[in-house]
Amino acid sequence: MKQFLPILMVLLMASCQQKAPAPNQNEYPIQPVPFTEVRVTDDFWSQRIRTNHEVTIPIAIQKSEETGRIDNFRIAGGLKEGIFRSPFPFDDSDIYKIIEGAAYSLQMFPDAEMEATVDSLVILIGLAQEDDGYLFTNRTIMGENGHDWIGKTRWEKVDDLSHELYNLGHFYESAVAYYQATGKREILDIAIKSADLVDKVFGHGKLENWPGHQEIEIGLVKLYRATGEKRYLDLAKFFLDVRSDGIGRKNSYNQSHIPVVEQSEALGHSVRGAYMWTGMADVAALTGDQSYVDAIGRIWEDVVYRKLYITGGIGAEGGHEGFGGPYELPNGKAYCETCAAIANVFWNHRMFLMTGDARYMDILERSLYNNVLSGVGVSGDLFFYPNPLESNSQHQRSEWFGCACCPSNISRFIPSMPNYIYALKDNSVYVNLFVASETHLHVGGAHLDVAQETQMPWDGKVVVKVNPDKPLKADFHIRIPGWSSENPVPGDLYTFADALAEPVKISVNGKAAKFELLNGYAVIDRKWKAGDQIEVEFPMQVRKILSHPEIAANVDRVALQRGPLVYCAEWPDLPDSLVSNLVVSREVQPEANFEAGLLNGMVTLSFDAEGTRRTADGSVETYAKRAKVIPYYGWAHRGKGEMAVWLPTTKESSSPIPGPTLSSTSVVKASHPTDALKAVNDQVVPESSGDENHPFYHTWPRRKQTEWIEYHFTQPTEVTTSRVYWFDDEPRGNCRIPEKWRLLARQGSLWKEVAVSGPEGGKKDAWDEVTFPAITASAMRLEMNFPGDFSGGVHEWEVK
Ligand SMILES: [Zn+2]
Repeated sequence: MKQFLPILMVLLMASCQQKAPAPNQNEYPIQPVPFTEVRVTDDFWSQRIRTNHEVTIPIAIQKSEETGRIDNFRIAGGLKEGIFRSPFPFDDSDIYKIIEGAAYSLQMFPDAEMEATVDSLVILIGLAQEDDGYLFTNRTIMGENGHDWIGKTRWEKVDDLSHELYNLGHFYESAVAYYQATGKREILDIAIKSADLVDKVFGHGKLENWPGHQEIEIGLVKLYRATGEKRYLDLAKFFLDVRSDGIGRKNSYNQSHIPVVEQSEALGHSVRGAYMWTGMADVAALTGDQSYVDAIGRIWEDVVYRKLYITGGIGAEGGHEGFGGPYELPNGKAYCETCAAIANVFWNHRMFLMTGDARYMDILERSLYNNVLSGVGVSGDLFFYPNPLESNSQHQRSEWFGCACCPSNISRFIPSMPNYIYALKDNSVYVNLFVASETHLHVGGAHLDVAQETQMPWDGKVVVKVNPDKPLKADFHIRIPGWSSENPVPGDLYTFADALAEPVKISVNGKAAKFELLNGYAVIDRKWKAGDQIEVEFPMQVRKILSHPEIAANVDRVALQRGPLVYCAEWPDLPDSLVSNLVVSREVQPEANFEAGLLNGMVTLSFDAEGTRRTADGSVETYAKRAKVIPYYGWAHRGKGEMAVWLPTTKESSSPIPGPTLSSTSVVKASHPTDALKAVNDQVVPESSGDENHPFYHTWPRRKQTEWIEYHFTQPTEVTTSRVYWFDDEPRGNCRIPEKWRLLARQGSLWKEVAVSGPEGGKKDAWDEVTFPAITASAMRLEMNFPGDFSGGVHEWEVK
């Protein structure tokens, strides 16, 4: 703790690593100012919150109706005949999340029609609940013939994929939210009846098993808070303590490999993990269990020091929707599920409430403004499930998903966003996010109006107006974000390439004020009177970010951040629509411009850069091009094309435009044409057949058929050589080198065989080259047959 007299300079370091103190019994020591007490007055978030109400929630209800998710409740409740109508046993949870979102949204936008719709959903849920409280439409409808994942009897596969308890967790969250929003008890009574059944079945000496997908822990804690029934808190703690210790199958995929209090690493499915760590924080706050606090502190470090994307995203791998190893953070195939980013916000908020340390809010803000916001388009009706940091044109937003967890999660998260702006502890007021807003607090026996005036995230000036109804001794904790100090995130996963030219400036009523720095906050302690104001000027310098050298995908690359927003280069903003061949100086000094007409208005950054292209002799030359980058959340609103967050800083790390070769000037056709086909003649040579960091073409999910690629030349040309670099993602993926291939040349209208593979088929991790007697052809065809049930692919194919 240091004293700074008159202000101005602030050189802030991430606060020293210290063990979090044991939380108080009963509750978090710091309490959030609930979103119902905060009125957002800005353009940025208020548009999102309104769009969520007017577009996203109605669409989510409509899609749930179209996909049978609501009918499942009608059928289970006996109002309709039929079988379970939607794809997954967890589909009930989408309805619950939408109700939760509507409950929050109705408190800002009273809407009789939406409320009536929710009331009717509540009636359906009540009808679908079985007499003893069991609530799970798939089993109620299908009996013993339910989904493969759920087992023949209740709870049989609860530790696996049945999602019986997962659904209930979301239901309890929605029940508490809707009851608190409307005062209508029906939904809460259904939840109590359900939780009482779960409590009767599960527990020490009863069924000692755990949920395969965590979530009920969070829901039970909320139900406990709403009802005061301690059995629900005990049950939440039971589900955590029994993990890996009961009768279920231990599995790191769902964090049940060892007892939760012994865990130190972020492993497995990222949404499951982050919901569990959120639940552990809740239970620790209410019970004072220090072993939970220690475990989530260790896991948090593993995430933030080794497994976090610069967008705040978590979960590198699509295969298990979860964490990769340390520093395993690929960009193009980054998973970064929207739900995981939301869960990361939940978790970090709890960590802050427990400790009062701003570093958790840094991670929260990073996830919120980047990965979470990327998950929903500005129009509120198009979504991302994974949020990669690079695109080779293959990505676009979807109207909905078969597995709809992400859009329904967005629908409940966005209206609760004002929950994260302010917090309170005794006479301490925390200003955590810089969002134009107003709130009314009760502090030290006084009524205190607090308002922020700011154009954040576009402009760094923030005025906090402090209006107590009588003179008030209190301290304001103004968060000093990582992006305006020395370190983008705690640890050394990311560092700034540049120094901060201007420090954060803080004054009170226009004059130097006394404050101290504590846990990442500027703490201003004084006697406040009506009309006082705190003025903060955050430097909006564009920060250049470098990665830890162990992150292979980011070597010789830089990312740009301004304020809380991470930027990306996207194809419409480059003169030649090419991102992958960009070379950006690490010393780049971009020019920031507010563009009112672009995606509800945003600050874009422009600068001089270079592009690379290959010459006829294979060498690489550069050319000047003007580049513009946009906030990452705004990508994929303007059609498909290239995008990258991490921009090459050297010629070698960029992908040059192919040189004028026979292959690159050909028209490419294929039996299975996809956007990825352009990879075969892009002249980017992979490091191995399994190299997924460079573009490749594949035929998955097609199998057991002859596939082909053709090069059609601009004019008949003499050809003597062909070489192919095959794609093969053994053992994880479904592509293998071909078991046989052959090469044909077209003369007139006839295809003539010029080469075939040997008995071993294709060659792996190297060029597979053949020469043959010169033939003049108008086109060449590569025919491929892949082994057994596998597909295959091609990194590169050259003909000469
Ligand atoms: Zn999701």
